[in-house]
Amino acid sequence: MKIAMVGSGYVGLVSGACFADFGHDVVCIDKDQSKIDRLHDGIMPIYEPGLAELVASNVDAGRLTFTTSLADGIEGADAIFIAVGTPSRRGDGHADLSYVYAVAKEIGESLSNDAVIVTKSTVPVGTGDEVERILSDSGTSHRFAVVSNPEFLREGAAIGDFKRPDRIVIGAEDEFGRQVMREVYRPLFLNESPILFTGRRTSELIKYAANAFLATKITFINEMADLCEKVGANVQDVSRGIGMDNRIGSKFLHAGPGYGGSCFPKDTLALLKTAEDYDSPTRIVEAVVKANDSRKRAMGRKVLDALGGAEAARGKKVALLGLTFKPNTDDMRDSPAIAVAQALTDAGVEVAAFDPEGMELAKLLMPDVTMVDEPYAAIEGADAIAIVTEWDVFRALDLKRIKDLANAPVLVDLRNIYRPDDVRALGFEYSSIGRT
Ligand code: NAD
Repeated sequence: MKIAMVGSGYVGLVSGACFADFGHDVVCIDKDQSKIDRLHDGIMPIYEPGLAELVASNVDAGRLTFTTSLADGIEGADAIFIAVGTPSRRGDGHADLSYVYAVAKEIGESLSNDAVIVTKSTVPVGTGDEVERILSDSGTSHRFAVVSNPEFLREGAAIGDFKRPDRIVIGAEDEFGRQVMREVYRPLFLNESPILFTGRRTSELIKYAANAFLATKITFINEMADLCEKVGANVQDVSRGIGMDNRIGSKFLHAGPGYGGSCFPKDTLALLKTAEDYDSPTRIVEAVVKANDSRKRAMGRKVLDALGGAEAARGKKVALLGLTFKPNTDDMRDSPAIAVAQALTDAGVEVAAFDPEGMELAKLLMPDVTMVDEPYAAIEGADAIAIVTEWDVFRALDLKRIKDLANAPVLVDLRNIYRPDDVRALGFEYSSIGRT
């Protein structure tokens, strides 16, 4: 099969490389010339474990190419995927669909054969209908079908998730669309990955419902963590105790500083807007969005408390360890670290930070924070150390060395990666999430 992937960001590039690895002939298209130039030079535009090797081997095998020209890239393609961004629209939180619609229009103008157009971007219910309208309006004489195929991969584990998905969801309205998608995913059929065929609108909603449900699970356990701190209970045991119930499941029950990243914040907001438009309020999701927003800055206050309160904190120094919204990515979008750093600098605290992959992007978002190139440089002279992201490198810190380097042995562990007794035995003042 020949596949064209329009948009070569996280989703487009990972999906494109994986489809090529399945044996398909794939062209990844992006309008960002520098991204395509770098890909031609074998340089990945994102940090994702295993991606550089996967791209290189498929380029070498002649199955994966890159171009900035949509017209050239889609020529002869059986399936044309749209994998461009759908960020929150400034001002109202609706998904900004301008990139998706611009691509649909360009496809309509350039289509030179029959093809299935697949929205892989996360898009609100009804977007597929509009994409279909745009293609019809382009006057193309070729047969086409518009299909929804949301992506569920996680950054940091993207290749494994794509190749061994829990399920593949395909929303199609006709047999042409279904049949081409069956061919596209045939290698996964053979792997026995479950494939769920639904209507297009249902498929679009499944993606938002999934993300909203996961965001709800995280927010639920975060609120339980706050309660644990008040009543002297341990949230990790609460998580285990409820997660062992198969009806609940143990995943996404790790208390922390709040969810961030490129998906949950914008997708929960977009779902609220869809619900509002259809006069069908989703009050649980409303509460989740509100609770998570206020939690991120509250984490900054937690660090200030460890310094003796906002007054005492002025002029002190904090080492922030971890800036990305989760480990194994360089993605800084909506990372809790941004709100934590802001709360600290607002209170007149000097902040030095280290992150294994996120500092280049973080610099732009946190102009008042000093970035250093290894964790102990941030810790030197610090009055408190805050772990914000659970990168492996922070799981095995040399605590004795930290004690010597820091101005005060104060550790705020927003990811619960240390055992309170162990750290306190070394003389640290230690606070974490939902544990006393
Ligand atoms: P991204 O910003 O990393 O990549 C989007 C790419 O599209 C960019 O490289 C951009 O230059 C390109 N682009 C924009 N307009 C274009 C055009 N007209 N022609 C060609 N290229 C164009 O975005 P992403 O993180 O890959 O997300 C893409 C979509 O997938 C979003 O809807 C997102 O919600 C969804 N999604 C993302 C993830 C994730 O983990 N990042 C997971 C599941 C779903």
